[in-house]
Amino acid sequence: MRQIIIIGSGPAGFTAAIYAARANLKPLLIASSVEAGGELMNTTEVENYPGFAEGIQGPELMAKMQEQAERFGTEVLYDDVTELDLTGDTKTVTLGNGETHEALAVIFATGSAYRKLGLEDEERLSGRGVSWCATCDGFFFKEKTIAVIGGGDSAMEEATFLTRFASKVYVVHRKDSLRASKIMQERAFANPKIEFVWNSEVVGITGTDAVDGLVLRHTVTGAETSLPLGGIFVAIGNDPRTHLVHNQLDLTPEGTIAVAGRSSKTSQTGVFAAGDVIDPTYRQAVTAAASGTVAALDAEHYLASLPEALLASAGEPALA
Ligand code: NDP
Repeated sequence: MRQIIIIGSGPAGFTAAIYAARANLKPLLIASSVEAGGELMNTTEVENYPGFAEGIQGPELMAKMQEQAERFGTEVLYDDVTELDLTGDTKTVTLGNGETHEALAVIFATGSAYRKLGLEDEERLSGRGVSWCATCDGFFFKEKTIAVIGGGDSAMEEATFLTRFASKVYVVHRKDSLRASKIMQERAFANPKIEFVWNSEVVGITGTDAVDGLVLRHTVTGAETSLPLGGIFVAIGNDPRTHLVHNQLDLTPEGTIAVAGRSSKTSQTGVFAAGDVIDPTYRQAVTAAASGTVAALDAEHYLASLPEALLASAGEPALA
């Protein structure tokens, strides 16, 4: 058994690991099998992470965080958690390969997943012109006319990035003003390849083998129009990844894991949560990292409060 297991490998997970490892807690960090590194792996330039005055590529930032966590003794396992038992003093984590790992404390930092429009054709045409990740798939849309759905920072960032490949990018938004920050809006407005389609809801995605257009409904007049396209990028936000703990931890009305005040303490003793999975509002790499720090410090205090005999049962870990 270990003292601590951290689930998640974004800025929250790795920062928690840096702190826990430096506190000599020998953390095991479970990074997902396919999404290791979290959302920043799908980002290009990160311009607002303090300390990188010239900016840094998202994957490079994550590689540095992992290197720093490993330098102090974090062990990283690449697999998906399939089951969790968070009750009692000993927490059990089951992985996709059937292995189970036990720990006295768990930090849950699983981030969030792309939100979907919820249309049948979205699934059918996924990977055939429907994408949720411009940096992953943008290259396939060279010289095409495409649309980005959404009005937040993600939509502006994706639309601006996609103008490197696409001949034209429509931004389809359900309102007549954007939620995105001013600087991102201005960048998109100034880009001659971007055209905004306001007050429009996506009610259909057309195409037999690949996307060939969108059906839009005007939110004011109700009129339906079709927009011929070679692809669409859905950038309408994210939902916290809580499916593993639905029945074990209290959630907030927004669907994030509930924590006590400004701490990382969940409704289950010995279980802490950090990053996007507890944050419906700020969702920045730097706020996630700070939240990982809080979780590691809370976990450290919790472990220090446990009886000697229990702590002694969390002996030396070392992966095979
Ligand atoms: P947001 O929640 O900020 O924005 C989501 C957008 O999608 C909104 O405009 C919303 O419309 C729209 N939307 C939501 N659901 C639907 C739906 N079903 N159909 C159509 N449209 C829909 O998410 P983001 O991912 O853009 O940003 C999340 C956070 O991450 C923010 O804090 C943002 O600042 C941050 N971020 C920062 C970046 C940066 O600084 N470089 C880059 C990317 C994200 P409505 O406005 O009507 O609600």
